[in-house]
Amino acid sequence: MTPSGPNPDLRLGLTRRRFMWLTGMSAAGCATNPVTGKSQFMTVSEEEEIQIDRQYSPLQFSSDFGPAQEGALNAYVDGIGRSMAARSHRPHMPFSFRVVNATYINAYAFPGGSIACTRGILLNLDNEAELAALLGHEIGHVNARHTAEQMSKGQLTNIVVGGLSIIADVAAPGMGQVASALGGFGAGAFLASYSRDNERQADALGTEYMVQSGYSPDGMVGLMEMLNSLNKSKPSSIEVMFATHPMSEERYQTAVRAARTTFAESRNLPLNRERYMDTTARLRAIKGAIEELQKGDKAMGQKNFSQAETHYQAALKQAPDDYAGLVSMAKCLLMQKKHAEGARYARRAQAVFPQEAQGHHLGGFADLNLKEFDGALQSFRTSQRLLPQNPNTIFFIGYCYEGLGRRPEAAREYQRFLQQVRQGQQAQHAARRLQEWGYTR
Ligand SMILES: [Zn+2]
Repeated sequence: MTPSGPNPDLRLGLTRRRFMWLTGMSAAGCATNPVTGKSQFMTVSEEEEIQIDRQYSPLQFSSDFGPAQEGALNAYVDGIGRSMAARSHRPHMPFSFRVVNATYINAYAFPGGSIACTRGILLNLDNEAELAALLGHEIGHVNARHTAEQMSKGQLTNIVVGGLSIIADVAAPGMGQVASALGGFGAGAFLASYSRDNERQADALGTEYMVQSGYSPDGMVGLMEMLNSLNKSKPSSIEVMFATHPMSEERYQTAVRAARTTFAESRNLPLNRERYMDTTARLRAIKGAIEELQKGDKAMGQKNFSQAETHYQAALKQAPDDYAGLVSMAKCLLMQKKHAEGARYARRAQAVFPQEAQGHHLGGFADLNLKEFDGALQSFRTSQRLLPQNPNTIFFIGYCYEGLGRRPEAAREYQRFLQQVRQGQQAQHAARRLQEWGYTR
């Protein structure tokens, strides 16, 4: 018996209490903003900011193919970020910084201080001061509590709930539509979108933090210049960043003015270009592969799978063990229903980065389509251990048990899934089976 596949039109059901919590509508209040010292409409506590971060940042990091495997590169970025955060307005927050394997151009922060920048953006920076400007800007968003403020005003509802619906979109057999569905979550699905005022404030704080940490304010000018020029030359690679961090000529002009006036005497501080170039040398050595991955992603976005496959192939020729390349290729093949080939790339992805969930999730998905339910079950179990925040894995584990004819186990997983997800095709499938099997009426 083959269970029939749910389709991608899936929405995650939220209990009222949880919705209230997520949108911060349960209690109204004011708090003193840690940056401005002014009163700020705020219903989200610091503990809640940290909790939200713990729940969503792992999903976003996994969607971005996990932290870069080059330990020295991560340690470098983390070290710069932490030293700046320690001198900032909220040094007690649990800040952490990493490079994620994704190749689109972006950097982002979760409200508890989990901050990431992509390999794509690192390739476009010219020196350490520009990196410090980028990280300082993200620290600024955390410290000014921009995400919490938006949640308090109810403005983040769509993003958070919309993000959840995208997790629930994870594909099931028979589904061949949503590229992000195959275990990924869509670029930027969990990210807050900031206002222009938020951006201004984060830029100002970022400049302050970077100068305090001994970098020339020209790093902020260089960062703004780079972002502006990418907007003209490669708009598709940077659209997620600009959707979440609105860019403008004004931001650039403000950075130039700040460097010439407020921070003029700090302009002789270093940019540390050489150290930046040395530490990113291995990344820059595979620049060609990263550009092929960017082109492949663009083709995937246009559902041009054969073109995407050609670009991913070219990327893997230059960097055969690149985890993002292997996962992207596996997704691209699965979208084309080339399940056996997709399974092979998923296995290679698992082998090069066993601690990251996506390779296992995709391997499980490929195995499900090949009716290899035992293998699929193992893969989804591993994926669940690595990324317990993803409720869809519970559904897929149930689905594997169903395929294996192990009804009590399937029922237990479907019940667990329905405790978290109430609406959508997967929930309907789970509820229907529980009813057919006599677990519910
Ligand atoms: Zn921003």
